[in-house]
Order: sequence, then C-alpha cells, then structure tokens
Amino acid sequence: MQNETSQVDVTVIGGGLAGMAASIHLADAGLRVLCIEADAVDNDPVGESLDWSAPDLLKALGLPMEHLLEQGAATYKRHVVLKLRDGTEQHYVPGDWLGKPPFNVDLRTLHVDRGQLNQALREIFLSKGIRLLSDRVMHVETAERVVKAVVTAKGERILSPWFLDASGSGASLFPRIFNLPVYEYGPRKVAIWDYFTVPRSIEGTTLHADGAGPPYMEWVWQIPIHPNTVSVGYVSPGEAVKEKRQQGLSVQDIFEAQLKSFPDLQELVQDTAKEPPRTTSFRCRVFARTAGPNWLVAGEAASMVDPMTSNGVTAALRHAAEASRLIIRYRDRTRIPRLPAAMYSQRLLSLARFFNSAIENVLYDWPIRNRIGPFKAGDVYTIPAWSINVVYSRLRPEGFVSTTFFRLLLASLRCSLSVFHWFCSRSQSSRSIATA
Ligand SMILES: Cc1cc2nc3c(=O)[nH]c(=O)nc-3n(C[C@H](O)[C@H](O)[C@H](O)COP(=O)(O)OP(=O)(O)OC[C@H]3O[C@@H](n4cnc5c(N)ncnc54)[C@H](O)[C@@H]3O)c2cc1C
Repeated sequence: MQNETSQVDVTVIGGGLAGMAASIHLADAGLRVLCIEADAVDNDPVGESLDWSAPDLLKALGLPMEHLLEQGAATYKRHVVLKLRDGTEQHYVPGDWLGKPPFNVDLRTLHVDRGQLNQALREIFLSKGIRLLSDRVMHVETAERVVKAVVTAKGERILSPWFLDASGSGASLFPRIFNLPVYEYGPRKVAIWDYFTVPRSIEGTTLHADGAGPPYMEWVWQIPIHPNTVSVGYVSPGEAVKEKRQQGLSVQDIFEAQLKSFPDLQELVQDTAKEPPRTTSFRCRVFARTAGPNWLVAGEAASMVDPMTSNGVTAALRHAAEASRLIIRYRDRTRIPRLPAAMYSQRLLSLARFFNSAIENVLYDWPIRNRIGPFKAGDVYTIPAWSINVVYSRLRPEGFVSTTFFRLLLASLRCSLSVFHWFCSRSQSSRSIATA
C-alpha cells in the first residue's frame, strides 16, 4: 500500500553534503523541499581536507570559516606537505598571486571534523523548514527522460516537479536509471583510516608516500581535524589489499604495517586496545549528461574525484549551488532548457575528468613520477589544479561562452598531461630496453 506525497517543489535524494547544501539553497529561494535520507546516523563521513574554494561555498550556506574554527569543528590548512619514506619532504603552498586582485583568495582553507560539520549543516537545514524523510528511495518512475515520482522502501510515493539526485557514489541512482555514459579512472581503491591523539599538529595536510619507484602509488593521509587529533588514512588499490587479506592479514594488520613503515607515523601504532579502523572502497569516475528536463545529479552521485585531490567537498558544494540555481531560475517553466542543462553537465564532467586524469597520470602512475621525481610531479599537479579551481570559483562560468572556455582550457591541460605521461613512459621503456 503506497502513501502519496505531492505538496513538494523539489525532492532531494540523499542528505549528505551535496543533498543538504542543495536543500538549503532551494529553501532559501522559497521552494518547498523534501530531502530523503536512507541512513539515520552519519556513517563515518570522510572529506576532511578542504580545497581553497570550499570555505566560500560553506559561507554561502551560513558556515563562515571563523565560525567553524570557533566551534572547534575545523583547523587551518595553509599548505600540503609531501613526505617520502626516506624522510625527505616538500611543502606546497598556494602562490601569493592568488591572494591579490582580481582573485583575492584567502590563502588559508580548512581541515574539518566531518561529524561536526554535518551536524552544523543539519541544524541550518532543519531551521529552514526543509522536510527530512528517513527512508530509502527504491524505485524511480520515469516517462522518457522525465522523472515522475520516486517510491521509498516504506511505500511512500513522492511526486514533485523537480528531482535532485545526491545519493552518493555507492548509489548514483539517476545515472543508473538513465544508463548515463561514464568515464572511469584508475583501479578500484580501498581506504583504511582511523583517528589518533597527538601532542600537536601542523596547519597543513601531510601526504606520506613512496615517491619514485613503485608502478602505482599508495599513500597515507594525515589530517589534523582538531589541534590534537589527526585523521590518518591509507589508500591502496583494492587488489593489493585483497592479496594481503588472502595471506591472512586483518584490516588492522594491514593498516598498522603501513603506519610502521613511515618514520613519522610509527609512534601512532601503540594503542593496541583500539577498535578496528574504518574502511571504504571507491572507484573514481564521472558521468556525462547529469542534467535532464526536470532532474539533476549532484555530488558523488555524479562524480567521484580521487581523495588525493582534496576536491570532493568543493565539488559536492559546487554542484549543489549550480544545480539549485538552475531549478530556481526555471522553477516556473518546470523544465530546464537543453542548453543550460548541457552546460551544467559539461562543467561537472570536464572538472572531474581533469582532476581524475591529472592525479592518475602525474602521481599515481609511474612514468611522470619516476622521470621527474615525486616532488616535481607534485608541482606539475598542484599548480594547474589549484589555479583552475580558484579561477573557476572566481569567474563562475555559467553560459555557453564561459563554459566552453573552461572546457577547452581543462581539455588542453588534460591532453598536455596525457602527452607528457605518454612521452615519459616511452622514453623510460626505450631506456630500459637500451640498458637490458
Ligand atoms: C576515502 C575518502 C577520502 C576523502 N577525502 C576527502 C578530502 O580529504 N577532501 C575532500 O574534499 N573530499 C574528500 N573525499 C570526498 C568527499 O568525502 C565526498 O566528495 C563528499 O562527502 C560527497 O558528498 P555527497 O553528498 O555527494 O555524498 P554522500 O556523503 O555519500 O551522501 C549521499 C547520501 O545519500 C544517501 N543515500 C544513498 N542512497 C540513497 C537512497 N536510495 N535513498 C535515500 N538516500 C540515499 C546516503 O545515505 C548518503 O547519506 C573523500 C572520499 C573518500 C572516499
């Protein structure tokens, strides 16, 4: 037996970062929003080291940087440090030019305690009169390319003129229903992470890695979410973890072995009474055509960008802002015209393709990293990636001309890095043939 709900302008599926952010923007514009969230409690949310564009996006939701710092929900992030197993390190700091006109970027961003950030967002969300339905969308009713209704596990049938899919990368509901084209990057990866108390921490994110040598890079993040608490996570191809599990190692054994192999992390492996670490697995990918006549896809449901880029939170908040803007603008027509819908999905697609292919080609894979060394490879990735994100946030491409300009810029950067990757792999293969 189904109950029918129809007094809603927008149905948002998923109450994670993207879903909550979009609901807040839509409610601020006077739309009646119903947000359906399957999990009553936050399950180990990740996304703790933020890109430089994230603070402005959080501010637009009522969470300025100063407030998060005062509440103890965040710490400053001023730079990123790459530390190798041999103890050498390089610091990556955003260029001063970003702090000057016309960009005027605050050269600080944040690390966040995601539990506290989600709680703060949820309080704002609930204060806006948004209806939160604790249920799981099981079925999506469509007619051609239009979404008509969604049906939940508890038998609620929800009809509304607009739908936003923010169901995360595990579900990606609309991309699956509409069988959207997908681009995938790198192998399936596993992240194993935990939290540790430390005497003090730096105002930066540290990435511990092997650097030159291994064919595919594994790494460990160290993120100070509070001055005395660090989040430490190991990211590895799923196959490598599977192999170790088949050898009889537990997840905890695998995690501890990694920490012990880095001089700075060894002392964290002392608390043997600790609960097993948290785990998740993911595959980096992005869907094309993520906007239809009366629906859009936002956040990880649309694109999963690699955690090393620290770009997932920015992407989720940015998609939420851009998708809501389209719904608000065309609310009376009940259809998004084809061009703005195509521009939305093109922006989302080209940014995710750029970040994923750049991080795979330059850092994860061996040719560039081994040819120019891991520290220079870090420069080759961070300089274009950080600049593009900031320029995008300042210029806010929307129409055909600005979106096309950005697409071309991102495509040419992506192609240049692919050519460099090809060149480095060829020259190193011929060198190894010559020395054989
Ligand atoms: C290991 C790891 C580390 C990361 N680190 C960083 C980082 O340091 N910096 C950074 O910027 N980003 C990072 N990210 C990415 C970042 O966490 C995500 O991009 C961001 O949290 C995605 O938010 P979302 O709202 O799109 O998805 P989610 O947070 O996954 O939200 C989706 C919600 O939809 C709900 N849902 C799913 N299916 C249904 C359904 N059928 N019906 C109703 N509800 C449903 C789920 O319960 C969930 O709450 C990391 C990601 C991973 C995997």
